[in-house]
Amino acid sequence: MADVIAIDGPAASGKSTVASKLADALQIPYVNTGNMFRAVTRAAQAAGITTAEACTDENFAPVLAGLQMAYKRNSDGVFDLEVNGEFPGAALRAPEIAKLVSPVATVGSVRSFLKELQRSFAANGMLVMEGRDIGTVVFPDAKWKFFITATPEERARRRLAQSGENVSGATLEEVARGIAERDRIDSTRAIAPLRPAEDAEMIDTTGLSIEEVVSRILNKVKA
Ligand code: C5P
Repeated sequence: MADVIAIDGPAASGKSTVASKLADALQIPYVNTGNMFRAVTRAAQAAGITTAEACTDENFAPVLAGLQMAYKRNSDGVFDLEVNGEFPGAALRAPEIAKLVSPVATVGSVRSFLKELQRSFAANGMLVMEGRDIGTVVFPDAKWKFFITATPEERARRRLAQSGENVSGATLEEVARGIAERDRIDSTRAIAPLRPAEDAEMIDTTGLSIEEVVSRILNKVKA
């Protein structure tokens, strides 16, 4: 079994906050795989791939060939995604990236490229990995699997409260629409669609505090 705590769930469900606090509490690395898809999207946009129609294996071959990614400690000592020698950090949360990332994540070669990298990270010891397909495809043998959800209204409220991710002046309805569209593409794609693993524990975080969710997962992991 892989020494991995797999945390999956839809957009803006609170997975990242929970996963990072959990990793802090256990003093193990935290890998945010959404950021890896975002980094591929950013590189694709820089190479002129800007529409869903252009998201093909053929177009992504040169993009993937030019990408070196690793999880390393950044200048604040926090595990962070390094892309071609730099930490893109908050640049990955830009609204233009959020708009194209789900079409990019349907491309088979992108998914296999990232899956291999994600698997390689577990060679260095226990970690928390968060995404959409960690419990189903990347680590179907993960020791712990959680699927985090919240109602669409709650998720839109949470996402609106995160500055930087939204177009400035965006309304709750616009944010909700963006999330729903991403969830639609993510859960209907042919390869590794968003869905809970059969053996994942479901956690509906609507009305729960982050601390409550983290402590529920910690209790399970420590047991
Ligand atoms: O988690 P985050 O919202 O940053 O993920 C961005 C996008 O990356 C998702 O909407 C999804 O299209 C893609 N993704 C994925 N598989 C993962 C993680 C993210 O397809 N394991």
